[in-house]
Amino acid sequence: MSEQATHIPAAPRQRVLSGMRPTGALHLGHYHGALKNWVRLQSDYDCFFFVADWHALTTHYQSKEVVERNVYDMVVDWLAAGLDPEQATLFIQSRMPEHAELFTLLAMSTPSSWLERMPSYKDQVEKNRELATYGFLGYPLLQSADILIYKAALVPVGEDQAAHVEVTREVARRFNNIYCAEAPILPEPQALLTETSRLGGLDGRKMSKSYGNTIAMRDAPALVEEKIRTMPTDPQRVRRGDPGDPQRCPVWEFHQLYSDAGTQAWAEAGCKSAGIGCLDCKQPVIDAIVKEQAPWRARADEFLANPKHVHWIVEVGTERARAVARKTLREVRAAMGLAY
Ligand code: SF4
Repeated sequence: MSEQATHIPAAPRQRVLSGMRPTGALHLGHYHGALKNWVRLQSDYDCFFFVADWHALTTHYQSKEVVERNVYDMVVDWLAAGLDPEQATLFIQSRMPEHAELFTLLAMSTPSSWLERMPSYKDQVEKNRELATYGFLGYPLLQSADILIYKAALVPVGEDQAAHVEVTREVARRFNNIYCAEAPILPEPQALLTETSRLGGLDGRKMSKSYGNTIAMRDAPALVEEKIRTMPTDPQRVRRGDPGDPQRCPVWEFHQLYSDAGTQAWAEAGCKSAGIGCLDCKQPVIDAIVKEQAPWRARADEFLANPKHVHWIVEVGTERARAVARKTLREVRAAMGLAY
């Protein structure tokens, strides 16, 4: 076989698109539920990850300081977790007016009933009338524009967000049918259902800043220790000598994520027999979290000491994203008869 014949060019990596709202310091729930997966994906796919600050405004439009303060904090958390700007394209949504243009153009052909029927819209507006805004109604279509402008093949989602990818597929299909049936411009993305771990909060409810039950990715070791040591446990284990049941205890969810099988067996047996106290049981969890956080804290310190570098990373990512977005927009404008 000739040398030329053995040279097979590598297939282009499929593009993955995902965003995260800047709603405060990222916590372990964010890390295990999404960010860890992003870090894994970046070497296998052409990943575009963006700060979804417009999306944050669809629900927090009255508290602009929330968005302002959190954007770069979140980028530092991403970099600390191991996102590599050499591998993934990191950018800020509001720096890309191209998304807004595609959103407007797609809005022309998207039936409003598709947005009104979204479960996230109906449920949340029923709970909070302040959300009955045009921006919040249009949020899934803005998300479609975010995805379609990069012709992303895959969108990593939890099962509860699969409906948003589905509406994006419908939007793309309708656009292609109306404007470019012969040579479709907007590919229909697929949901990438990946394995992520759900981590409950310190009180057993969902980990969320609004519940005040989080451990931030960059909490100091002493704070982590204090938070875990004061976590509630099985309410039926009132005294040290009372046997407990890990299934009733929020600490157990942390063991399931952080402890190996041997430690889990030790904790379970010790709990049920009252052979160990709750502080004994919590110690391996504290140690594991502090160990997990150590490289994040070290990397974050470097980035925090050099904010210009972080801005530069976002700048480069934004320009890289813009080149792709502009190309798609040129095609879309031409298909819609706007290329004058
Ligand atoms: S021993 Fe562990 S699992 Fe059992 S109640 Fe205490 S903290 Fe929870």
